[in-house]
Amino acid sequence: MTRRRSCILTYHSLDDSGSVISTPPAVFREQMEWLAAEGVPVVPLDRIRDTPGAIAITFDDGFRNFFHQALPILVEHRFPATVFVVGGFCGGWNDWPSQPTDHLIPKLELMSWQEVEQSSRVGMSIGCHTATHPFLSSLSATDLDDELHRSQSEIEQRIGRAVDTFAYPYGDAPPHVRKAASGYFRFAVTTRLDFLKPGSDALDLPRLDAYYLRSRLWFRGLYNGYGTAYLSLRRGLRVVRQMV
Ligand SMILES: [Zn+2]
Repeated sequence: MTRRRSCILTYHSLDDSGSVISTPPAVFREQMEWLAAEGVPVVPLDRIRDTPGAIAITFDDGFRNFFHQALPILVEHRFPATVFVVGGFCGGWNDWPSQPTDHLIPKLELMSWQEVEQSSRVGMSIGCHTATHPFLSSLSATDLDDELHRSQSEIEQRIGRAVDTFAYPYGDAPPHVRKAASGYFRFAVTTRLDFLKPGSDALDLPRLDAYYLRSRLWFRGLYNGYGTAYLSLRRGLRVVRQMV
């Protein structure tokens, strides 16, 4: 058994479209039931580095289907999760300016502020995913600071709680961006595909994207040798993709 590794899971949208950001709701339900049946500790993001063998669950972008599909299942199992919302787009759609127009990403509704606040009230953590979902490395120092701070303040006002977690859009987190984020947040997550390691940088946390874990075999393989082999393979493929 290699149950000592911890990881942070990334979900985006729960829907049946089959897109690269979509997990079918039935698959999500089965995954959560499996974690519960196995007794895998599911912990809040701010405790993941201190809990060997645990899983933290995150959702990027704050889609409305989180509220309707994921939240009831999470509450049923008493699993905590962190939802990273885009402050300037709550109640709208995921049509921010940096969204690719290649139709690989479906246009989807985002949670309203009322739904964000209700999610917080039933125990979910609300994290910040900027105000407008830009590539942070492309911004001036002033605009970078504004993207980090403006949405953090707005979310805090809306939910009446401190917001100390952040997700870098597109995993775009070079050193100067991480340094800026450290001025406002205690924890920040990337899209780098990996398990946590002892001493992982709190402002540069790797995650495992649910897209790569859709099959039952690979999801359950998080806790056996298959998982490691598979993730090495996926990392290799991702490097190849970035080169083309
Ligand atoms: Zn995003």
